[in-house]
Amino acid sequence: MNIVARVEEIYHILHAMPEVGFSEHRTAAYLAGELAKAGYAVQTGIGGSTGVTGTLDSGVPGPVVGLRADMDALLHTVDGVEKCVHSCGHDAHSAMVLTAAEALAAAPPAKGKLKIVFQPAEEKLDGALSMIDAGAVDDLDILAGIHLRPIQEASLGQATPALYHGSSYIALADVKGVTAHGARPHLGVNAIDAAAAVVGAVNAIRLNPVEAWSIKTTKLQAGGATLNAIPDRAEMAFDLRAQNNATMDGLLAKLPPLVEHAAAAVGATASVTIKGGVPAAEYNQGMVAIAREAIVAVLGDQGLLAPIVTPGGEDFHYFVKKNPKLKPAYIGLGCDLTPGLHHPDMKFNLAALPKGVEILCEFVRRAVAGA
Ligand SMILES: [Zn+2]
Ligand SMILES: [Zn+2]
Repeated sequence: MNIVARVEEIYHILHAMPEVGFSEHRTAAYLAGELAKAGYAVQTGIGGSTGVTGTLDSGVPGPVVGLRADMDALLHTVDGVEKCVHSCGHDAHSAMVLTAAEALAAAPPAKGKLKIVFQPAEEKLDGALSMIDAGAVDDLDILAGIHLRPIQEASLGQATPALYHGSSYIALADVKGVTAHGARPHLGVNAIDAAAAVVGAVNAIRLNPVEAWSIKTTKLQAGGATLNAIPDRAEMAFDLRAQNNATMDGLLAKLPPLVEHAAAAVGATASVTIKGGVPAAEYNQGMVAIAREAIVAVLGDQGLLAPIVTPGGEDFHYFVKKNPKLKPAYIGLGCDLTPGLHHPDMKFNLAALPKGVEILCEFVRRAVAGA
């Protein structure tokens, strides 16, 4: 198989049919069909949605080694028109993983099982959870993912064996006061006073400054058409970031009582809802070492970058959070990507794709051999 031509062919097919999270019907059908042609036992419609897995069993006991790609694209408004664009490169990830799956099926590892995982809705941050909750990935021992990197992090011919994504969460607060006439504020409880107390309290949170973390109020909506009445309701939102899971756990534990008490200080009540988020990266150093070897085997020593710390989030990290025995690895691939991920004009050099395929195949072969 000519992987250079094949990965580009698949990429162009996927690039031409971008679909948003949980709507990747054509993408999933295409990937499932190609996996079946390559000899994989395919499962589709996972979690009642678009998730796909393909399993290739050597028939010899050994590890279940997985490759995972995300399938979804993003909505952008370009010249006033909303359109779907593969601006995060998930078409490239699926193309690399499918090509690697085909190459590995042509020369399969001597033991264990290969498991290919195409997940929906990474951008919605709950696509991985939909696969986990459906029990579709319970059998994995090792799982590798790959993501294109912007040129500021890596160039064509370079890759990192570990992308340290941060944890990010969104929390909402519903603040309730008591309305009253503007002339009689003492008969009411002003929800804006309560919200202001909450903003101050949130900004006074203290966590270990050695760790990277932040919390910001990102929404404060209160008051309405009646400007001479005391508002009885405020809606708030907070963006929480932390570079490790223990710090995020601390932040998530502090926030609800702090919001409730700050509101109570002015006589209001408040309730906090954690809307959702993703855990930070936690890698198995043995797998990072194998990813490093795979990169050097394909790109040479000069292509190997140090681990990269990025504040961005990735729902890949739910796979290990929900299955602590899983050994994960996540490779960042340089491809001269400009102007940036999530930009509707995102472009990259397609010459990176076959390199990504080779790195994934090297990773699988080494992981199986070492298990
Ligand atoms: Zn993205
Ligand atoms: Zn992405």
